[in-house]
Amino acid sequence: MKDLLRKIIRTGRVAEKAPPRPEGAVPEAAAELKGSVQIRHVDAGSCNGCEVEIASAFGPVHDAERYGARLVASPRHADALIVTGPVTRNMRVALRRTYEAVPEPKVVVALGDCARGCGVFADAYGVQGPVDDVVPVDAEVPGCPPEPEAIVGALRGLTGR
Ligand code: SF4
Repeated sequence: MKDLLRKIIRTGRVAEKAPPRPEGAVPEAAAELKGSVQIRHVDAGSCNGCEVEIASAFGPVHDAERYGARLVASPRHADALIVTGPVTRNMRVALRRTYEAVPEPKVVVALGDCARGCGVFADAYGVQGPVDDVVPVDAEVPGCPPEPEAIVGALRGLTGR
């Protein structure tokens, strides 16, 4: 136990130094969230590339939690939804219900080119459409997949930190 504590103290913080807060438009609803945003992630049909980058954004190097963004398990505990992938026919109702379960004020972020416009899955037989065909979208993060720095930047836009 002592060895472990010694190692923790010796290692210290491993996160990258915080870059300056990115400039850019902040979704109107985010202004009411006041520095702390609880996020429910919904994979509406992603290839999982975007999920790998989200995991990286919340990992020890980029550490999105230090800016007040936190992933939660239930939409009822969330202020924001991050949606990845094109919305598949099988996920349309689930995404709509998840959106309705989030209390007001709420924000929806379409993360990745598929969420924004179906990307490489456009016209696939199982695809319903982009996220804003199913729920209102307040912010977008472009890229296939977006880099963790861009994801953290968008989250800082929501938390204002
Ligand atoms: S944007 Fe790219 S990485 Fe993300 S779900 Fe679509 S194909 Fe996969």
